[in-house]
Amino acid sequence: MTAAISSDSLRKSFDGRAVLRDISFELPAGQCLVLLGPSGCGKSTLLNIVTGMLQADGGELWCDGQLLDSSARAVHRPMKKRGFAMVFQDFSLWPHMTVADNVAFGLRVQGVRGAERRKRVADALEQVQMDELADRKPNTLSGGQAQRVAIARAIAVRPRLLLLDEPLSALDAKLRDELKVEISALIRKTGVTALYVTHDQAEAFTLAARASFAPVLDSQRGVWSHLGASFNYRENAYEYEKSRG
Ligand code: ADP
Ligand code: MG
Repeated sequence: MTAAISSDSLRKSFDGRAVLRDISFELPAGQCLVLLGPSGCGKSTLLNIVTGMLQADGGELWCDGQLLDSSARAVHRPMKKRGFAMVFQDFSLWPHMTVADNVAFGLRVQGVRGAERRKRVADALEQVQMDELADRKPNTLSGGQAQRVAIARAIAVRPRLLLLDEPLSALDAKLRDELKVEISALIRKTGVTALYVTHDQAEAFTLAARASFAPVLDSQRGVWSHLGASFNYRENAYEYEKSRG
């Protein structure tokens, strides 16, 4: 169900300006890889290549032994066929649909029907404690509630890969602290493979430490050396260990 994702030397330029240079990562099935880097370093560009929204200029993207993206081999597997789900910074709920219909939408597309669909929607909303607000419209929700719904919508379809693009950055500090712990627990509980992007170091360490899976960055493979040049994973990890005693 849940998939292993890897990339080899992905490259992307916009208007002749290189944004991604030789980005390689490995994300084993069921693990959570947290990618940390400053604003503008190319995090969303990389996620958009993984989802299939964008095509890389070079390099390869693989999922469970299947090639998803390679311009050299003229392969670009369509977004809909990848079976991934994304949680966005701005929630991106459909405003004209209720909470329950937002969560049900992807299940409809998958052909999940009737009682099974209702059960999956209820389960997903319960996981994020939003089951009591199932009939609300998004514009009546707080930011934190809206993001919970977006997370429920993403996990309801049982994605092979869950992508989260700075899911907490539109929320206030208290809510960020609560939700980062909850998201971390949810990722572990569902066992979904997750690719989590943030510019917030504390958030990155919470996700990586609590999910206790993959490292924040794989500096040995130089994964983020081009993306987050200002950040050195190993030194910061050491500081983090020290501060925890
Ligand atoms: P991050 O998500 O890390 O903040 P992005 O991936 O959004 O960074 O953007 C990386 C760089 O690429 C930025 O300089 C941004 O302006 C540029 N960029 C992103 N998308 C496009 C695009 N479609 N056209 C031109 N430039 C873009
Ligand atoms: Mg971004």
